[in-house]
Amino acid sequence: MRASRGLGALRAPDSVTLTPRLAGGWTIGEFAREGRGADAGRRGATVRVCGWRAFSQIGGRLEVTHGGYGGGVTASELGLPAVRQATPRDPARPADARLIDTFGRVATDLRISLTDRCNLRCSYCMPAEGLDWMPRDEQLTDDELMRLIEIAVRDLGIAELRFTGGEPLLRKGLEGLVTASAALEPRPDISLTTNGIGLARRAESLASAGVNRLNVSMDTLLQERFATITRRDRLSDVLEGLAAARAAGLGPVKINTVLLRGLNDDEAVPLLRFAVENGYELRFIEQMPLDAQHGWERTEMITAGEIMESLRTAFTLTPDPAERGGAPAERWVVDGGPAVVGVIASVTRPFCGACDRTRLTADGQVRSCLFARTETDLRAMLRGGCTDAEIAETWRHAMWGKLAGHGIDDPGFLQPDRPMSAIGG
Ligand code: SAM
Ligand code: SF4
Repeated sequence: MRASRGLGALRAPDSVTLTPRLAGGWTIGEFAREGRGADAGRRGATVRVCGWRAFSQIGGRLEVTHGGYGGGVTASELGLPAVRQATPRDPARPADARLIDTFGRVATDLRISLTDRCNLRCSYCMPAEGLDWMPRDEQLTDDELMRLIEIAVRDLGIAELRFTGGEPLLRKGLEGLVTASAALEPRPDISLTTNGIGLARRAESLASAGVNRLNVSMDTLLQERFATITRRDRLSDVLEGLAAARAAGLGPVKINTVLLRGLNDDEAVPLLRFAVENGYELRFIEQMPLDAQHGWERTEMITAGEIMESLRTAFTLTPDPAERGGAPAERWVVDGGPAVVGVIASVTRPFCGACDRTRLTADGQVRSCLFARTETDLRAMLRGGCTDAEIAETWRHAMWGKLAGHGIDDPGFLQPDRPMSAIGG
């Protein structure tokens, strides 16, 4: 049954604390997003829902940062499942040690978010003021994290580890985590997704620790644009980081690019030319509804089709004959090769049917999908004294229930409570 609660008139700098009773989402989340929503616009108010926790059991704060609402602001319980769930044990799950699901997929690739913090503020990822960062004691310690990674590799068949975030280079002890991961048997493939800030100094030590491959995110080659998109003037650091990674043998170094309408969508060709000339592999990622501000609009998103059309004005692209497997990127050979370009069309050409990923957040929650609306709490098991076997079995059951797809096109699609930066992209 739904419950509603009137919040009355709100005027900046009012803030309202929403209690855990409203767990699972409020209709207020639908219109009270910064810079968006008919009500906010009409009444000249800017309203901010603070942090992803605003949508969880923990409760959250709703702030009016500018102007005011005349009244009638109502928070309504949507009756959605709470974020953390007790993982049901399905007796029908076969006794298979791997991370299998009911659709026959097997997860072998573990994406690990090392922190939700970041030193950039990409506009499609988080607001200018950042987010309510995860309290340190909620984050897994290095020892806790290594225990989960060891269980994943030794007991669950994980063959690939990708460290991400937030910004993984901000995690103290990253090199130590990589070294310990590289010592596991069988030795997993280890990669990193980073924004490249500080990479120039660390590429060598990361390579020595055991990183095999690296993705650097860079959306533009123009300094001013970079500062606009990321809200920090750090393009030169990223370019230096890319070069250092290549010099350290972390190749092929991949560049991740998100194109945004009216901001950098005229740069598909120059970015690919830059990548080809410098020996990097460029991958375009369709913008997904995973930003903390909930500002994603399907009609605004630059589609894979548009990207290909733009690239074809300057390059001949032929499908890469290499087996795609569970890889998210569709790859194209550029002008006969050897260079290739990838397009990750998560929205317009979803690849959920071949997905081989499982995800671990910095606070020890397993997610079966970027878009999952439920999580399984392994940190509570770690801190509650559970055995490795118990944790492994819970992880198996969490993955067994993985949904067929992300459902972005479903009429009832709801963006996950955690933004990309707190899940790990
Ligand atoms: N901070 C690191 C970085 O930027 O590479 C790692 C984390 S970031 C969340 C991982 C990747 O997700 C980046 O390539 C970033 O561009 C991408 N990303 C972030 N928000 C996105 C969104 N809403 N849609 C598509 N990709 C997104
Ligand atoms: Fe930070 Fe990466 Fe998000 Fe940009 S995309 S704000 S670099 S976490």
